[in-house]
Amino acid sequence: MTTDAAFRAELRSWLAEHPPPTVTVAGTAEEAAVLRDWQRTLHAGRWMGIHWPVEYGGRGASMTQVAIYHQELARAGAPAVLGRAGVSLVGPTLMTHGTEEQRARWMHRILGADDIWCQLFSEPDAGSDLASLTTRAERRGDVWVVTGQKVWSSYATWATWGICLARTDPAAPPHRGISMLAVRMDAPGVEVRPLRQITGEHEFNEVFLDGVEVPVADVIGPEHGGWQVANTTLANERGASFVWKEQQAYGVAMERLLAACAERGLTTDARVRQRLAAAWTDVEIFRWHNARTLARIERGDDIGPESSLVKLFWAGMSQRFTEAATDLVGADTLLDPTDAHAGADGRWVAGLLAARANSIMGGTSEIQKNIVGERILGLPREPRP
Ligand SMILES: Cc1cc2nc3c(=O)[nH]c(=O)nc-3n(C[C@H](O)[C@H](O)[C@H](O)COP(=O)(O)OP(=O)(O)OC[C@H]3O[C@@H](n4cnc5c(N)ncnc54)[C@H](O)[C@@H]3O)c2cc1C
Repeated sequence: MTTDAAFRAELRSWLAEHPPPTVTVAGTAEEAAVLRDWQRTLHAGRWMGIHWPVEYGGRGASMTQVAIYHQELARAGAPAVLGRAGVSLVGPTLMTHGTEEQRARWMHRILGADDIWCQLFSEPDAGSDLASLTTRAERRGDVWVVTGQKVWSSYATWATWGICLARTDPAAPPHRGISMLAVRMDAPGVEVRPLRQITGEHEFNEVFLDGVEVPVADVIGPEHGGWQVANTTLANERGASFVWKEQQAYGVAMERLLAACAERGLTTDARVRQRLAAAWTDVEIFRWHNARTLARIERGDDIGPESSLVKLFWAGMSQRFTEAATDLVGADTLLDPTDAHAGADGRWVAGLLAARANSIMGGTSEIQKNIVGERILGLPREPRP
């Protein structure tokens, strides 16, 4: 048996002994607790952050193994873990820009769900143009004092820490006067207000910061150099984390969609076959593109702006796929996902509604096209006001 086959067999038998819970999203405190426990179970089996170095609690797994990992979790119907921002965004950012002391303090706690992190970047008037953010931090002795408002902060309700971008040098040009601060979400002056979204969940939140004190030891990366640090976070959000997770999830979803259509005797209809073929082609293009990207990451290449291609294609694919699934499976998709008879069919509509956000989160599709045009194709930059 090859190393990768042995790895798959080990994970598969571990999953058989530790069946995942059925929660899909942390809508309530009870569901969040279930997801936290699931992450702890994974961590106890050394199945969290497997690509992280062993010293930080990972297995130093290869990219191929990471792909196998997400494939097996998707096949077992495992939900996303509660601490996903910590594992896929904060950990990699700390590995590149954090101090040894910060890594020792936070990395293990991220994997074990002892700390849940959220991302405090977007503001009411700074999303696509993130460098125009106005949350400010003033240095007073050994602390930075942060005041401002963030919005769309996913999972802030459950978070114990947030990576927050704040303007620390108001005299510097926009990209040069920003720092990344680790903010304790229970610090005096932090207020989290949940926002309810189309799916009925409240993944999003507004976060108000009023004179919040952050010790200077909790600045991640250089003071005033937070823009480069944030770019590492965003490249992970747009690139690697999509590559690993989503390709497996859609591969498994495609198999389920084919089975659902076959069960209903739909696959002899030429129009159904066209939709299925188009969905399958999208999923395969994504898989092959990701295989190439994973090989490059494995070689140590920085995928840089090409992470935008992954994000752009994924956003469109996820929307086309969930539209096709709800059209084809039809009325059964309206089953309440918690109904015992609903099975996978009851989750297609939730997927359809959630996918609307995919062309906005992590940078909109228009912004990804700008990046591809300017930084990959070398087209002239769009005029800035
Ligand atoms: C599911 C989800 C989760 C999120 N989670 C987080 C989170 O955890 N933390 C966080 O900080 N943020 C989060 N966000 C916010 C997200 O990063 C922003 O919504 C996104 O960057 C867009 O910013 P905006 O909403 O301010 O839209 P705007 O920037 O105001 O854009 C409005 C419209 O104008 C277009 N536009 C803007 N500028 C240009 C341009 N230069 N060229 C062409 N078109 C342009 C955009 O494409 C868009 O269609 C999340 C968003 C979603 C949907």
